[in-house]
Amino acid sequence: MKAERIVILTGAGVSAESGVPTFRGPDGLWEGHRVEDVATPEAFAARPGVVQAFYDARRARLAEVAPNAAHDALARLDREWPGEFLLVTQNVDDLHERAGSRRLLHMHGELKSAWCLACGARSPWEGPLAGGPACPACGAKGRMRPDIVWFGEIPYHLDAIDQALAACDLFVAIGTSGLVYPAAGFVETARFAGAYCIEINLEPSDMASRFHEQRTGPAGRLVPELVEALLSARAAA
Ligand code: NAD
Ligand code: ZN
Repeated sequence: MKAERIVILTGAGVSAESGVPTFRGPDGLWEGHRVEDVATPEAFAARPGVVQAFYDARRARLAEVAPNAAHDALARLDREWPGEFLLVTQNVDDLHERAGSRRLLHMHGELKSAWCLACGARSPWEGPLAGGPACPACGAKGRMRPDIVWFGEIPYHLDAIDQALAACDLFVAIGTSGLVYPAAGFVETARFAGAYCIEINLEPSDMASRFHEQRTGPAGRLVPELVEALLSARAAA
């Protein structure tokens, strides 16, 4: 496997070993909630308090978790890889940046960002949004929503991601179920560009057959192995 330009896509599975539950647990629920009750614009319009409380709890939980070996290895790859590199995450946690990743795009938004519906500003956010705090940019009260891309909304950075995929020669999807579009389609774009495509997951995902190679097991073990192999091959070249 000879790589110059790498694109990595991560999903909730990369944070599972840090103790952040994945989206669809064995019960089909996200932390006890049906996805449509907390992760849609309709849910926010109908029951804003419930949705704010849900994301407030997810945001507060970030203080109790830490990056794992997979996040650390991806940050190392970013630091040491001399070629083009882009890490795209569907995760809304901040574990990639806390591990040190820099060439990183959050396509589904971030828990630690708040979006003001009055003025459009996005502000770094640490505490709760319940209670209707004032926007740091315009002062409007009660108009801040989580800066999260909900179902039915358009993900962020799609142009930049598409450009990177169309030019990459190695694409790796890690810990993602392949059910949420457009991320699930990234492997097609990468294949079309001629990239070698690897999936790392605890079990083959719904998109598994689209990849050239499957690596089955925990991200915390398989990602450091992949990064070590890529960097050693590069050093030997
Ligand atoms: P998902 O929950 O649908 O799928 C997680 C995948 O990870 C599954 O295929 C599972 O087999 C795999 N997995 C679980 N543990 C793993 C491990 N230790 N090593 C390797 N793979 C493992 O998640 P998704 O595909 O990211 O779906 C998407 C949505 O969920 C995104 O929109 C995202 O914003 C949201 N979400 C984010 C977080 C987070 O930020 N950490 C958590 C839950 C949900
Ligand atoms: Zn504002």
